[in-house]
This record gives sequence, structure tokens and C-alpha cells, in this order.
Amino acid sequence: MRQCAVSVDLDEIGCYRALFGLSPVEAGQHAVYDVALERIAAFAQHERIPLSFFAIGRDLERCRAADRLVAALVEAPHLVENHSWAHRYDLSQLSRPAIAAEVRRGADAIEAVTGRRPRGFRAPGYCISDHLLDALVDEGVRFDSSVFPCPSYVAVKTAAMLGLRARGRSTAAILSDPRVVLAPADPYRPGRPWFRRGERDLVELPIAVTQKLRLPLIGTALSLAGRRGAGLLTRAAIGRPVVSLELHGLDFLDEADGLSDLAPHQRDLHVPHAEKRARLGTAIAELRAAGYAFVTAAHAAHTVA
Ligand SMILES: [Zn+2]
Repeated sequence: MRQCAVSVDLDEIGCYRALFGLSPVEAGQHAVYDVALERIAAFAQHERIPLSFFAIGRDLERCRAADRLVAALVEAPHLVENHSWAHRYDLSQLSRPAIAAEVRRGADAIEAVTGRRPRGFRAPGYCISDHLLDALVDEGVRFDSSVFPCPSYVAVKTAAMLGLRARGRSTAAILSDPRVVLAPADPYRPGRPWFRRGERDLVELPIAVTQKLRLPLIGTALSLAGRRGAGLLTRAAIGRPVVSLELHGLDFLDEADGLSDLAPHQRDLHVPHAEKRARLGTAIAELRAAGYAFVTAAHAAHTVA
């Protein structure tokens, strides 16, 4: 049966500012938990889909964030998975014990708030390594969903980072390992190296790309594509056994949410959040019409395993 797992990475605004080399500011810094989360829960309820939130453990130290997350879980079968403790973009390059500590601390923080130990992991910036997968297996993680085997994304990200460097700006991001484009685009058991199929004791759920050109089927792309474009992109992915549709909290915000100085760097913030929601709704409707069942990422991974 075809399955679609919709996930939402709850990266706070500071993650984006660090990406673009911007200094932290007060305005809008907690907009993902304090503004977007309620919109996300309403979206999921309207669309009748369970979500998999990928939360950064450190963010949950703020009581208001933890409360908002718990409130979003009350009326729906959403699950919270692990997006690491501190969202270090260079996580995949740390030593195996250092990675394990980040994974464990993130899981501890999420379990303390939700009462459930996360079973899944998503790496910051989609960057993984053999070290990282080894650490995940050590920590008992059952599935990873970080591989984004999208040539156009790798090209655009690389060009953007080189552009920032050329202008003398810093960025917290690291370059993607270009071998990610060799990875399977459908769920697989990673081997060694991680972008080949093998025997590791966990499942990889790659972030969705279209069938032929491997264009990105993620929230940012859908937000920027317009409603018709969102429909076309989604239809081009249909046929994959599992569509792991990755959204971000930012997909439910716009520049009017105190984010006007981030908007020149993050273009989708120029699109009103209600319009972005409509474009995401187009994608959900296309998948539903094609017979996809909406499940949590943990469920999809379990089925594959
Ligand atoms: Zn992230």
C-alpha cells in the first residue's frame, strides 16, 4: 500500500538566522513554537493527517515551547521524533561519541516532555555520515529520515554557500556530501557507505523527490511553486511506495509574523501563510486522490522494516 508520512521540522528562527550568517534578534525568535505550531495542528486536523514532528531537544527547555508541543499532541495521533539536542549543522562530522551524546540528549528532552522515547531521527541540514548512522544504531534509533537525494537541492545549496563565502559572510551550514544523489530515493536499509543499500539495523526514509528528475517535494518547494506548481510537483512523485513529505514550522509563517528581516533571505516568507497552507493542501489532496494512506514516519519505517 502507498504511504505518505508528513513530517514537520520544528527548527526555530535562530537556526535560519545562523544559516544566513545573521545575528540573533528578539523579534519573532520563538515564532515556530509560539505562532506556527497552532496553525500546524489546525492544518493537520483539517486535512485529517497524523504528523511526525522533529523537535530540537534544546528548544523544549523553554516551558512555553514544551507546553505548546504537548497541546498540539492532545487531540491527534501525532508523534515527536528527534532532531538532535542543539541542531549543530556539523553534527555528521563530530566524533561518534559526540554524535551519540547529541542524539541521546535530544531524545531525553523529548521523552521528558512527551512521555515517549523518539524512535526516529533527522539530522540537521540533511547531512549524514557513516559515523552518524553508527551512533544512531548505538542509541537504539529505529529509523533515520535525513537523506535528501535531490541533485537540484545539492546544487542550489552549494551555490548559495559559495555565494555567502564570496561575500565574506559566515554560515553555520556545511556543504552536503554530493554522494547523497547516489542514494536510493525510496526507503532502504543503509549499508557502508551509507548511500548504498546494506545491512544496518535501522531504516532510512529518504525525503521525497519526484520520480524522474528527483525534484524536491518539500514544504519550501511547494510554498514557492504556486498551487498549480504544487500539484504538478506532487503528481511527479506519485508511484513511490512511500512519500516522506518534509515540512518545516517556517512553512506556516510569513513575514508579518515578525520575520520581515529574514524574508529577503528566505523567499517563501513573502508568501502569506494562508496561501502556503493552500499549496500544501493541494499536495495532500493529490496524494490522497492517488490512494496514499497518511501515516506517521515511525509507522512507515516499521512497515518497511
Ligand atoms: Zn533542522
